[in-house]
Amino acid sequence: MGLGAGFMLATSLVHMLPVAVGAGDRGPLLILAGYFLVHFFEHTVAPHFHFGEETHEHAMDAPSASWTALAGLSVHAFFDGLSIASGLAVSRSLGVLVFVAILLHKLPEGFTVASIAMASGQGRRGALRSSLVLAAATLFGALSLVDPAWVGVALPLSTGVTLYVAASDLIPEVNAIRSFRMAAAVFAGVALSLLGARLLEAAGLH
Ligand SMILES: [Zn+2]
Ligand SMILES: [Zn+2]
Repeated sequence: MGLGAGFMLATSLVHMLPVAVGAGDRGPLLILAGYFLVHFFEHTVAPHFHFGEETHEHAMDAPSASWTALAGLSVHAFFDGLSIASGLAVSRSLGVLVFVAILLHKLPEGFTVASIAMASGQGRRGALRSSLVLAAATLFGALSLVDPAWVGVALPLSTGVTLYVAASDLIPEVNAIRSFRMAAAVFAGVALSLLGARLLEAAGLH
C-alpha cells in the first residue's frame, strides 16, 4: 500500500498531470471532475468505505453497505482500466508507468473488497465474487477507450481519479500506520516512479 501510494502520487502529478492540462482548456476542470467522481461514489453514495482491511463489522450490518462500497470501488476500478488505456494512447512509456501504478494498488484494493464481503457475512464465495466484479470493471474500463480522440477527456478524468486514489484513499491509510518501513515504502514508490520514467526514456520507449 505504501509503495503503491508513493508510486501513484508521483505518476499522477509528474507524468499524467502535465499531459492532462495540455489536453485543452477543459483539462483542469476534467481533473477536478475525476477527483470528485470517486469521492462521490466511494464516500457520498457508500456510507462506509476505506482502503485496507474492513474490520468494522457493525458498519456492514446494513445489507446495502457492502454493495454500495463495491459499487463505489467498481466506478474507481473502471477508471483504473481507463487510465492505463489513455496513458498508452499518449505514449508507451506513460502507459507502462500508469500500468505499474495501477498494478501496485490492485493488491490492497482486492484485499479491501474481499474483507468488505467477509465483514458483511458473505463468506469466501462473496469475497471471490466481489474481487471478480472489480476485475471485470477494470477490464471494461481498459476496453472502453474505443476512439483515441477521447484521450483528451479520458486522460484528465483519469488523472483526477488517480490523484484521488493516491492522495485521499491510500495516503490516509499509510498515515494510520506509523512505522519506518511504511514511510520508506512511500518514498521508495515516489523514487521508483521518477527513476522508472528516466529508465524508460533511456531504453528508447516513447
Ligand atoms: Zn471500516
Ligand atoms: Zn483502483
